[in-house]
Amino acid sequence: MTDAPAPLRLFNSLTRSLETFQPVHPGEARVYSCGPTVYNYPHIGNMRAYVFADTLGRTLTHKGHRLTHVINITDVGHLTDDADAGEDKLEKAAAERAQSIWDIAKHYTEAYWADVRALGIRQPAHWSIATEYVPQMIEFARTIADQHCYELDSGLYFDTTTVADYGRLARHATDEGESRIDPVDGKRHPADFAIWRKTPAGETRQMEWESPWGRGAPGWHLECSVMSEALLGFPFDIHTGGIDHREIHHPNEIAQNQAHACTTDSGARMWMHNNFLVERSGKMSKSSGEFLRLQLLIDKGYHPLAYRLMCLQAHYRSELEFSWEGLGAALTRLKRLVMAAASVRDVEAGAVSDRRLVDLLARFDAAMSDDLNTPVALTLIEEAAALKKIDAGQKRSALAAMDDVLGLQLLTLSREELRVRPKNATIGENQIEVTLAKRREARAAKDFAASDALRDQLIAAGVEVMDGDPLGWDWRLDN
Ligand code: AMP
Ligand code: ZN
Repeated sequence: MTDAPAPLRLFNSLTRSLETFQPVHPGEARVYSCGPTVYNYPHIGNMRAYVFADTLGRTLTHKGHRLTHVINITDVGHLTDDADAGEDKLEKAAAERAQSIWDIAKHYTEAYWADVRALGIRQPAHWSIATEYVPQMIEFARTIADQHCYELDSGLYFDTTTVADYGRLARHATDEGESRIDPVDGKRHPADFAIWRKTPAGETRQMEWESPWGRGAPGWHLECSVMSEALLGFPFDIHTGGIDHREIHHPNEIAQNQAHACTTDSGARMWMHNNFLVERSGKMSKSSGEFLRLQLLIDKGYHPLAYRLMCLQAHYRSELEFSWEGLGAALTRLKRLVMAAASVRDVEAGAVSDRRLVDLLARFDAAMSDDLNTPVALTLIEEAAALKKIDAGQKRSALAAMDDVLGLQLLTLSREELRVRPKNATIGENQIEVTLAKRREARAAKDFAASDALRDQLIAAGVEVMDGDPLGWDWRLDN
């Protein structure tokens, strides 16, 4: 087989087809990802969107492109959906909790960044904060207002019939898309959307700015058009987000971009969308059932990178169902990989020439180049980790190269770090180790009564003793 790198093919939601990645600026890759709305903690479904964007970014780097990645922080403008049409998510949270909106935004931005770090998501070149770009948003709106917008008492609205082919990205409105459109009095077309929302007369909002259309706040879609152009130019390469954004948010960004640039260009060459993480009971939600935050997984004793691996086991365009059993299986798989890589972690890296590794690296490159086929890429890193009678330095280099793309930290994680240890455990690890050592002594002395008593003592404290476990877990804390 040839070792020439495979061309990078990615699924473009605009054309609903695989396309070869051709950078706007040779040698570069400029990527914008819609970031979190910081009115609450992100759930692990939200974090799937950033694991996907990070995997895309790592792959672009692996393919030799100089990456500029932007993720925005939405701290203004994102409305609650249908039931509460017209309210800003952050204003609402601040009013409910009688807290400053700026404090709320800061708190949840930091919580989101903690999850980003825990999942090994690389820092983007820019975290763009929406409220820092309001003057540019007003300027952007001003330039399109006459030809593409109309004013109502509630704000400035974009007339979606003024651009060619509005909604091409969405293809057809889904039920969810339709229901999320605000029923606003006076809108000319149901899909028209606010680009500036006036503060109602007699009211004040915590976040508001003066504009040619009165005191108020920008619409959510406006921020991404403005910040992507400001930081990445027009057009740029790839815009990412969850599949829900394909229906309203991104079509609206595209309409604004077209109006602003007087072009039919959408603003990004490719629009890529990750599918949803779902629960067996249905859609993941921040308000119903057990709120699945990454911290909950950590509190139950799972290492966060097990969740990253769980995401990588599915293709990003497939729906992924979350279950605790699935997470446990992903953790075991990660531990197997870490243990297989352990023998080469401290050796010096060497240039790869062994045919088996060269072949695996080429297949890995082909899998990732095939629209980020992480499920296959994972099996290839496992094959490489399992190779015996092979130069250790070369093996280390090959594993490091693959792990640079998958981000599982195989060469730095230890198997002890992956042990299941719930936060509410009533027994410390030292105590477990001491009791297990005593039990080993009792067994060696064939004192089975003592050995069983020690085991029962551990079970009572929530420790599952795993004798003869081939993975060498030895013990784990039940949760
Ligand atoms: P939000 O904070 O609601 O703006 O969402 C942040 C990101 O998470 C967006 O890209 C959403 O499309 C994405 N997203 C929301 N729910 C899920 C889910 N259950 N699975 C995967 N991605 C999601
Ligand atoms: Zn956006």
